[in-house]
Amino acid sequence: MDYLPIFCQLQQKACLLVGGGEVAERKARLLMDAGADITVNAKEFTPQFDLWAKDGKLKQAHGEFSPALLEGVWLVIAATDDENVNDLVFQQASERQIFCNVVDAPKRASFIMPSIIDRSPLMVAVSSGGKSPVLARLLREKLEAILPQHLGQLARLAGDLRQQVKDKFSTITLRRRFWERLFAHDRLAQSLANQDAAMVDKHLTDLFEQPLEQRGEVVLVGAGPGDAGLLTLKGLQQIQQADVVVYDRLVSDDIMNLVRRDAERIFVGKRAGYHCVPQDEINQILLRNARNGKRVVRLKGGDPFIFGRGGEELEVLADDSIAFSVVPGITAASGCSAYSGIPLTHRDYAQSVRLVTGHAKKDTSLDWANLAAEKQTLVFYMGLNQAAEIEAQLIKHGMSKSMPIALVENGTSVQQKVVTGELSALGELALQVESPSLIIVGTVVSLRDKLNWFSAATKK
Ligand code: SAH
Repeated sequence: MDYLPIFCQLQQKACLLVGGGEVAERKARLLMDAGADITVNAKEFTPQFDLWAKDGKLKQAHGEFSPALLEGVWLVIAATDDENVNDLVFQQASERQIFCNVVDAPKRASFIMPSIIDRSPLMVAVSSGGKSPVLARLLREKLEAILPQHLGQLARLAGDLRQQVKDKFSTITLRRRFWERLFAHDRLAQSLANQDAAMVDKHLTDLFEQPLEQRGEVVLVGAGPGDAGLLTLKGLQQIQQADVVVYDRLVSDDIMNLVRRDAERIFVGKRAGYHCVPQDEINQILLRNARNGKRVVRLKGGDPFIFGRGGEELEVLADDSIAFSVVPGITAASGCSAYSGIPLTHRDYAQSVRLVTGHAKKDTSLDWANLAAEKQTLVFYMGLNQAAEIEAQLIKHGMSKSMPIALVENGTSVQQKVVTGELSALGELALQVESPSLIIVGTVVSLRDKLNWFSAATKK
């Protein structure tokens, strides 16, 4: 081990920072977060330092570095752009046995600063021993992604609850299971962050009072349109904590590869030649697993509340008093728009955008006159089979035959295919693409010629 990792208590302890530039600013922020009593020594300061001094957050010592500044100091950071000054600070600090960090020069430092993930009071520090700060940073980013934002609040709460948990649960196994539930409890963490005391109390009562095996819940998660990079951080955290993942056809393999290895996977989508699992049966699968105490993730393509029947599934859970929460996803319209270079609104061409289903229930017909109005963009989901009808109705209700249209198949994935043309050819062009595809209608489609960045192939 080249360095011993330690966490220093710096509250109100005198610390010296030498340097008044932007690098020093970053170090000052860290020292402030740690509650240190900071003196900053420099010949010149950025305006930020003046502001901090004005707010009483630190003291400024103008002028050249002098060893007298080290008097009574616990820790020093040398962050000037002058190597000689940094060296001098290090040398003088070492003589006095004061720990000194020299920015970007680990060899000339008696301590180095790790990359940190701050979920106070939970702290994760990563260091490559000064060998590769970029590697440490990359690792930090990965850890940032998997550690929920509000984890620290749960850690703090856990500290307060320790005695109560000891009193309530007699064995170590029972306590461990309680703590595991608590730290995976996203809704509790959110209520803590919201400072919603009533909700916190409710969640805690549930945690303490319900038998452990009955604490299942369902998290409805939007997986986004295809590219796994478009999954949200919360979505990723949820699929990595799930006992069971119930998913359908639109969820990409790349995303399924991110699911926790031991989780049970239940596919409820349509396979070629087979029908979908009926909605009732899906509801039963969710209910059954949640009642058995499982943490169920219901994973859906795009956003679960946009043509995803997410609302319907949650109603069934609510009727059965099963706990649930929702993590939104990037809907196909947003994904396809970005990855095909077609902005859905534009100050000159479209003041609104409408997400329309091409697959309405039989007795609900669309308001075509309204859809054909000018200065808007239409995005049809599930519209491929209706493409000829959409073309005919929009033209009949006054839309120009030459209105630009695009069909985006498998948007955001490596197989994305985009076909563009005019409204009068929509029905015909729809034969060139397969499901899942979106139909975009509006003047904004013409911007694609200039804004396409994702793939070179523009098929007309
Ligand atoms: N909840 C989903 C939509 C489900 S409805 C969402 O928010 O995106 C299914 C329809 O979504 C498909 O028929 C298709 O029109 C559209 N769709 C979903 N993913 C798509 C993709 N990657 N590319 C193009 N269209 C897509």
